[in-house]
Amino acid sequence: RFGDIAHGPSVEVFELVAKFNEDTHPSKVNLSVGAYRTNEAKPWVLPVVRKVEASMAADETLTKEYLPITGMPQFCEAATSLVLGADNPAIAEKRAGGVQSLSGTGALRLAMTFLRELCGAKAALVSKPTWGNHLLMFRQLKYEDVREYRYWDASSKGLDLTGMLEDLKTAPDGSVVVLHACAHNPTGVDPTHEQWGQICDVMKAKKHYPLLDCAYQGFASGDLAMDAWAVRFFASQGLEIFAAQSFAKNFGLYNERVGNLTIVTATPDALERVKSQIKMIIRGMYSNPPAHGARIVNTTLRDPALFAEWQGCIKTMADRVLMMRAGLRKRLENLGTPGTWNHITDQIGMFSYTGLNPTQVAYLVKEYHVYVMKSGRINMCGLTTGNIDYVAKGIYDAIIK
Ligand code: PMP
Repeated sequence: RFGDIAHGPSVEVFELVAKFNEDTHPSKVNLSVGAYRTNEAKPWVLPVVRKVEASMAADETLTKEYLPITGMPQFCEAATSLVLGADNPAIAEKRAGGVQSLSGTGALRLAMTFLRELCGAKAALVSKPTWGNHLLMFRQLKYEDVREYRYWDASSKGLDLTGMLEDLKTAPDGSVVVLHACAHNPTGVDPTHEQWGQICDVMKAKKHYPLLDCAYQGFASGDLAMDAWAVRFFASQGLEIFAAQSFAKNFGLYNERVGNLTIVTATPDALERVKSQIKMIIRGMYSNPPAHGARIVNTTLRDPALFAEWQGCIKTMADRVLMMRAGLRKRLENLGTPGTWNHITDQIGMFSYTGLNPTQVAYLVKEYHVYVMKSGRINMCGLTTGNIDYVAKGIYDAIIK
């Protein structure tokens, strides 16, 4: 019976990682996967995470009992405060809260399922381009009308605001709209505060459901509050919103699958209703979330000394990305690489949308063993002081060929 099942497609980013791992070339560089790397091109377990884990290991009061279906309440509270700001009136008014999720992906999936099944949403919009999983999830959930709104303007290598607003306006009323809260993946281009205001006005007029994807808080500017600006702004505008938080990037907890779905509603009663339904969605999917990552995040967010240490780690990561951006731009310009390269330093977050086309990308992979996504997206964290000259030369060569 299963012999006739068609093969599913591969997931580009993980396929590239597998090829990279198999590659024996001594100069190989992986610029594909969205994870932080040190200047030695090594994964980084944040020292603050190691410290908290050591104390957890020694704590015999911690058991392996089930968490509640919606997760560890203290963690959800701390995570919600982190994204909305502890002094957010919606928290004081008890109309903002959180549900623990399987990282950012799980939070998105919970919100999308709730909006489809309980609000009857049929249409969904994501930015063009976006992180591929958004489209996959909407399709799996049988959204009938899945569209892309214009976002990346190839000529200016910036935001196509006019196109974006037009597409939001022409979409069916009550569409679910995924908005990247900061550090847009893959383009590294975020709206300005003024532009967010215009986006919000259209969202309101069209009664769209805002689903803010907040996977990189701290990675855009290095400042946690600044990176949550869009989420806080939407919450302040009288809209009911979902914000999908991930602690994969800013805590380096990629495999712990710890996230939070922050929910802001008009009334405390509405919040309880929404949470009770999301609880049933979780119960039917995986019953209860894992505790380890939530304990690490909760402990760190609640202890002022650990929190300060964590902020230091975020700064280390954000500063290294900035240094690599400046370094790559300078090298490409010094080599006289055709085109303009200011977008490398204008874009923010972990990724840069280089503008390399698929042929140039294929050249880089084949000739230089530099692994880049077909879209031309590169993870700045894959660059190091040891490989940046080599990568710049590879890009130069790929373009002039
Ligand atoms: N949204 C975006 C835009 C992302 O880039 C990512 C990570 N690649 C996520 C959400 C969620 O990732 P995770 O499920 O690992 O938290």
